Amino acid sequence: MTERTRIRRIPEKAVTEVAALHRVLDAAKVAHVAFVHDGAPVNIPVATARDGSRLLLHGSTGSRLFRTLASGVGVCVTVTLLDGMVLARSAFESSMHYRSAMVFGIPGEVSEVADKLVALEAMTEAWMPGRWATLRAPLAKELAATMVLELVLDEWSVKISDGDPDDPPEDLDEPVWAGVLPITTSYGVPVPAPDLRGGPPVPPYLVDWTS
Ligand SMILES: Cc1cc2nc3c(=O)[nH]c(=O)nc-3n(C[C@H](O)[C@H](O)[C@H](O)COP(=O)(O)OP(=O)(O)OC[C@H]3O[C@@H](n4cnc5c(N)ncnc54)[C@H](O)[C@@H]3O)c2cc1C
Repeated sequence: MTERTRIRRIPEKAVTEVAALHRVLDAAKVAHVAFVHDGAPVNIPVATARDGSRLLLHGSTGSRLFRTLASGVGVCVTVTLLDGMVLARSAFESSMHYRSAMVFGIPGEVSEVADKLVALEAMTEAWMPGRWATLRAPLAKELAATMVLELVLDEWSVKISDGDPDDPPEDLDEPVWAGVLPITTSYGVPVPAPDLRGGPPVPPYLVDWTS
């Protein structure tokens, strides 16, 4: 923890174990990357995956985001998982269950082709486990068009909110229901591509994603 990542607001929600960081990052397939561009803040959602002690991002070599990030700017990457609505007896005390993480640092470019392939496989397997080995190899032109960035997980914070409604005693007799409504995200039924040829079956690994 650094002075920048010390959680001051409701510090009892801070979680400092690196395993908790890994769990939050692994559960979140999307991150928001915040940085300053031309003197103004921007915050861009991108797919993200953890590979050991680094966070991986990839995108077009032509994108403003990736060209700027590769130039060595500092970023704050945030992931947010929404787990529930906390219905307290007052609007003031109502809140949400969440797990969130913030990672600070300067991303580095993964430029060697062999390293890039390792990173692309790690990302694909994080998002779509079991699929990489079933896909054709990336083409040279695809690799050339793709920038991969890594952000070392050195400076980070995790905040987890999972408590009951925290109403003051004078509100407990209010005649309204109070409690938590959990939120879950799940996969649906696979929809074949309209131009699917040759009748390949739905891959068995999809069962693992959905169970
Ligand atoms: C789904 C969701 C909804 C939220 N809704 C609200 C809201 O409506 N109003 C509100 O005031 N706050 C809300 N929060 C909490 C919010 O993210 C901040 O934690 C809070 O506003 C305090 O910000 P701060 O900069 O004053 O915190 P500080 O504690 O001063 O921040 C210091 C450091 O703590 C770390 N930190 C702070 N917040 C987080 C976080 N959420 N996750 C990981 N690390 C963190 C960072 O490293 C930061 O640099 C919400 C959080 C989530 C995930």
